Amino acid sequence: MDVVSETDALAAALDLLEGRTWVALTGAGMSTDSGIPDYRGPTSIRATPMQFSEFTGSAEARRRYWARSYQGWRRIGQAQPNPGHRALAALETAGLCGVITQNVDGLHQAAGSRRVVNLHGDIGRVVCLDCERLSSRVEMQRRLAAVNPDLASPVRLEHAELRPDGDAVVEQWHDFVLADCTECGGRLKPDVVFFGESVPRDRVEHAYALVDVADVLVVLGSSLTVMSGLRFVRHNAKRGQPVVIINRGPTRGDLLATIKIDGGCTESLAALRAYLSAG
Ligand SMILES: [Zn+2]
Repeated sequence: MDVVSETDALAAALDLLEGRTWVALTGAGMSTDSGIPDYRGPTSIRATPMQFSEFTGSAEARRRYWARSYQGWRRIGQAQPNPGHRALAALETAGLCGVITQNVDGLHQAAGSRRVVNLHGDIGRVVCLDCERLSSRVEMQRRLAAVNPDLASPVRLEHAELRPDGDAVVEQWHDFVLADCTECGGRLKPDVVFFGESVPRDRVEHAYALVDVADVLVVLGSSLTVMSGLRFVRHNAKRGQPVVIINRGPTRGDLLATIKIDGGCTESLAALRAYLSAG
């Protein structure tokens, strides 16, 4: 790859995308300007995420998880789309076929994007592991608040470290009271894909179908650390289609990128919107 300035790289990306169809693959860097921290970013404190087997296997693990997630939701549930999300929604009229996102914050839909694959699920929903019933997270928060009245003070959150999946690190969780499925009494989990859990097959196929109809894949704000995202870059490179990567810092897909822009999503998408929508 030649060494080019970021301005030249952006100009090359605009040139490549003009008149072509494209699909976006978005990661945590997309939502940092909405106040949701990127726990893989350079300034983050690394926390060990809970494994799926740990969550399903122990009531104590679930109590710890929900105590943290209950607190984290207060911030993630209030996050608003940033100008980058809105630009991407507007670009559906300028060649964008759809968005595949690794984020669970629901901000693409909130910004008006209509064709979105939530690869890792949706933090705004709750799923029962036993009867598969889906329910609303807002309702779950109400139920948890009712059975944990001592945690109602928002002061507690000041000391909690928030993570992008709505998890937060809190000290007091031993007394936390869980809420079970209202239908079957089963184990409830936020409808997000945990570490150690597979992305549902139909969702992966839907994402591949989007990648296959587009001329170009554009990665936005992901270091492609996990295979669930990297595989789409590999897939597109294998079929000889261009890949554009826009991310602050290196990614695992850099060697496969046709164009790499070391920059933020919000400003890059503003440029894409201005250039492609005007064309
Ligand atoms: Zn159930």
